[in-house]
Amino acid sequence: MPALDNIVSERLKTLAEREQQRVLRDSSRSEGIYVERGGKMFVSFSCNDYLGLSQHSKVIEAAIEATKQYGVGAGASRLITGNHPLYETLEATIAKKKKTEAALVLGSGYLTNVGVIPALVGKGDLIITDKLVHACIIDGAQLSGATLKRFKHNDMVDLERLLESRKDYENCLIVTDHVFSMDGDIAPLKAMRALADKYDAWLMVDDAHGLGIIEPEAEPHIWMGTLSKAVGAYGGYVAASQKVIDYLITSTRSFIFSTGLPPATIAAATEALKLMSPELAAKPLALARRFRNDAQSTIVPVILGEEAAALAKSKSLEAAGLLIQAIRPPTVPAGTSRLRVAFSALHTPEMVDKLVKAV
Ligand SMILES: *Cc1c(COP(=O)(O)O)cnc(C)c1O
Repeated sequence: MPALDNIVSERLKTLAEREQQRVLRDSSRSEGIYVERGGKMFVSFSCNDYLGLSQHSKVIEAAIEATKQYGVGAGASRLITGNHPLYETLEATIAKKKKTEAALVLGSGYLTNVGVIPALVGKGDLIITDKLVHACIIDGAQLSGATLKRFKHNDMVDLERLLESRKDYENCLIVTDHVFSMDGDIAPLKAMRALADKYDAWLMVDDAHGLGIIEPEAEPHIWMGTLSKAVGAYGGYVAASQKVIDYLITSTRSFIFSTGLPPATIAAATEALKLMSPELAAKPLALARRFRNDAQSTIVPVILGEEAAALAKSKSLEAAGLLIQAIRPPTVPAGTSRLRVAFSALHTPEMVDKLVKAV
C-alpha cells in the first residue's frame, strides 16, 4: 500500500475505534420531511429546512425560470462577470429583513465566516466567541491571525471577564451564534450588545438557525447567516451598514476569489424570503414545544452522553421509520453525544407524537 494510504488507514482506524468515523449515505429528500435511504422511506427530523421552503412549488418554479433564462452557472466571481442582476433584489430583501442598510451574498455560510472575520480583524486584534459557536467561526478566527478567546456558553460574566483584556488589543470582535446549532438555545443579544458598546467592541451574530424563525432581541453591528437552512436554497450573507459592506466587497478573500452563485439559487432564495412569515415560523416552533415544552427554537437536543449511546438510539429510531442523525465529537463536546431533533413546518403533530414515544 502506498505510504499515504497506510497513514490515513491508521487514522481511520483510530476514528472508528472512537466511534467518530463519519461516512456518507445516499439520502434522497422529497416533500421536505421524507428521506429515502437504502430503499426505505423515513420521516426526517434531521433537516434544517425548518419552513419546508426547499420544496415549495413557487421556490422551485423561480429556480427553473432563472435557469431557463440565464443558464446554470455564474461563469466567474462577482467582481468579474458573475454579478448577476438578480443579486440586487436578494440583497435588498436580506437587508430589509435584517434591518440593516446593506447586505452582501457570498458562496455559503461557511465561506462568509472564513472570509468576513479575517477581513475585519487580524494580528494585534482580539476575537471573543462563545465556547459553542459553529466551527466555521473558529476557522475564520484562526485564519485571521487575531488572538482568540472563548467564554463559557451564554455566560455574560465570563464574557465581561475576557473583555477586561480588550485594552491590550487594537480592535475587538465578539462573535456568537444567535440560535445555537446543536443546542437550540438563544444568545442574550441585548446583554452582549451592551457589553460590546461598553468595551468598544464590535458584535457579529451568526443567524444561521434564526432567520425567518426567531426575532432577535437586539441588533448587532454585523449579521451573517445562510440561505441554506430556513431559506431552503444555498449561499451565505452578511448584513451591516453600507460602509461595512462596501469594505467587505473589496477585502473578503472568500468573496473575491470564488465564483458567484447559480442564478437559480439566487432566484430561489429571493422567492423563499418572500414566503417567510410569522405564521409560517409559528408552525415548527409549536411542534418543537409539543416535543419539549421548554423548546426555544426549532432545534431540540436529546443528550445521551457517549458516542455509542447516541448511535444506538439513532439506530433504534431508524427501525421505527424516524431519521435522526446522532451528533458526536468533535461537532459537540466529549460526553455530550446527542440526537439533534430539528422540526419543520411540514411535520404533523402525529409525527411528533410518534417521535416522543420512540425517544
Ligand atoms: C450551517 C451553519 C453555517 C454554515 O452555513 P452553510 O451555508 O451551510 O455553509 C454557519 N454557521 C452556523 C451556525 C451554521 O449552523
